[in-house]
Parts: sequence; structure tokens; C-alpha cells
Amino acid sequence: MGGEKTQLPDQAVKIVEQETHNLSITLEELRRRVDSAAAVLAGVASLINHRQRYFGITGEHFSVNGYEGILIIDRLDEALLKSVRELLHGWVQKRKKIPDLKVLKTLTEKLAKKVESLKDRPVGFEVLFVVRGAFEFFEEFASDRPPHGVPELEHAFAHHLLGVIDRYVQSRERPVLRHFSDIAREYSVVSRLKCACGDEKFEVKMQALHQTPDGAPFDRMDLQCKACGTQRSVMFELPYFKDMYQIS
Ligand SMILES: [Zn+2]
Repeated sequence: MGGEKTQLPDQAVKIVEQETHNLSITLEELRRRVDSAAAVLAGVASLINHRQRYFGITGEHFSVNGYEGILIIDRLDEALLKSVRELLHGWVQKRKKIPDLKVLKTLTEKLAKKVESLKDRPVGFEVLFVVRGAFEFFEEFASDRPPHGVPELEHAFAHHLLGVIDRYVQSRERPVLRHFSDIAREYSVVSRLKCACGDEKFEVKMQALHQTPDGAPFDRMDLQCKACGTQRSVMFELPYFKDMYQIS
């Protein structure tokens, strides 16, 4: 069984705090330095490089296919995407110049053909996957002697990335929307959870809303492995459940 608690163990909380702190240090350094579209894109790449690090650190203490490991990585992915958004947004505001809209449109269309689009309530790693794919193809376009020049293309790409990430960040920050995004994430966690038998085939037998003794709502999911029949339960905190009652 296991997973009877809704709170992450102390070691997990420590990793999340430490790595979030590291991200904010990198972000602050970058914000001071970034003075061109090329530099902002390089900055985004260096923020994304943090993922390899926190993946490794998490793996030293938890299984990255286990409940705690998945939750740690998800929280850090969210912190990472918020940092990337802040870097891009800060630069766009400072620069105050809109990109060549024709270049932006062409770039967006080209990328849409190469990179899968995001579903409605994506989880952080899915957004990161799209961003990484976009970077890969962007390098290709940029090395292809774009008619308007590379700096203009970089400028357009920075705006394109901001658009993709903004949509995700809003779904994590806007009341009600963030609650439904949490629910979508529960299913995403279950789909990645690996059973001790080696399969990722947990089926949700029951999902029910509960309350902790001090009144905090949480979801409990009863799961069964489709391969070996093992049953377990996992809990998810619902910090934004209250949104549902505070909207006029
Ligand atoms: Zn199993």
C-alpha cells in the first residue's frame, strides 16, 4: 500500500526548496546580463539545463518513477517554467519592440509542422518537451540563412516561446483553472507511476475527495496494476479547491 500521507517527506521538500532556490539564483544572474534575443535564448537553454541536475539529485533519493519522485520533478518543472517565463517576459518588457509579425507567423507555422501542439491542461514536462523540440528545429531554421536575418528570427522565437509558456503558467496561476490543472495532473502522475512489477499500468479504481483533520481537502485515488493486480492508494493535495467557492 503506502502513500497514505498527502505531504511529501522532508527530504523531498528539501530537494524542491534547494533546487527552486538554485533556479532563482540563475534567473537573477541572467536577468542582469541578458541584452539581446540571442542572449535571452541562451539564458532559456541554461535554465532548462537545470533539469538534468535536479533529475539526478532526485534520483539519488527517490525513484523517479515513484510517487514522490514524480511529484518532486513536477514541482521543479513548474518552477523551471515559471523562471523561463520570467526571463522571457522581463526581456520583452525591457525591449518594448514587437517582433516582425510576418517572421513570427512563418516561424510559428513552421514549428507547428514539426513540434506536437500542447493539450489543454499540460503538465510541466510536456511543455518542456515542446520547448526543447522547438529549440531543436529553431537551430535548423536559423542555420538555413533566414531572409530577414538571424537576429530578427531570434526575436520572433523568443516571443513564440513566451506565448507557449505563458499559456501554461496561466493555467497554473489563474483561480479555478489552476484547480482543474491540478486534477489533470493527478491522472498524469498515475499514468507515469511504475508498479513494483515493472509496468506503468495503474488503473484508477476510485477517486474520492477527502479532508485532513484540519479541514484541508485532498483527493485519494485507489489504484490497481493491470499487469499484476497490486493495489495501492495515492493522495494529492488540492490547495486550490477553495477557488471553486470564491468566484463571484
Ligand atoms: Zn504490477
